[in-house]
Amino acid sequence: MTNVIFATGNENKLKEIRAILSGLDLHVVSMREAGIDAEIVEDGRTFEENALIKARTVWKRAGGITMADDSGLVVDAMNGEPGIYSARWMGEDTSYHIKNSEIIRRLEGVPDEKRTARFVCAIACILPDGQELTSVGTFEGRIGYQEAGRNGFGYDPIFYLPDRGCTSAELPPDEKNAISHRGKALADMRRKLEALRAEGRL
Ligand code: IMP
Repeated sequence: MTNVIFATGNENKLKEIRAILSGLDLHVVSMREAGIDAEIVEDGRTFEENALIKARTVWKRAGGITMADDSGLVVDAMNGEPGIYSARWMGEDTSYHIKNSEIIRRLEGVPDEKRTARFVCAIACILPDGQELTSVGTFEGRIGYQEAGRNGFGYDPIFYLPDRGCTSAELPPDEKNAISHRGKALADMRRKLEALRAEGRL
């Protein structure tokens, strides 16, 4: 088993990542489990740059294989806000009920077809020789008119999926993971790692 250090402290993310990467003979551990306590300055301009910054910071400390993700919500009618600032938008400690209510307020009077939004997730992976891989996944939806649903987290209660007739907070977790930005980015990263393994480079 090869160890992979994933630059997150979020247990839910780790669970999802382990499930999607299972069968690849990789043992995914958190920074804490790997004994790494790095201060990471996320000053990139894109999700991909921020994921690379996090993965590189850990790789410089620990070497081996490191991975990181960066994700957020892009609202078209808000010029792409909150975007890469999704976690920090309106303040890190502000509740998502307040953040979600503010997005709904900002979109007052905006018609359905202009309420388009997407969750974006970038995954970065650095290999033992320093080679860098990235994968990006998107999840398209619209900003709803009120919060609905108790699953998921963050902006899920206002992320309306017209095909499903519900928000991503109303989907069972497995269903969301199968179609989500993070699920798609991880599945793409899995394909890249499988290809490297088949070539004997991993
Ligand atoms: P990070 O991926 O830890 O950098 O956090 C990104 C932020 O984007 C989260 O704190 C949420 O605000 C938001 N976000 C990312 N993915 C999701 C999702 O699947 N549902 C709801 N909010 C999300």
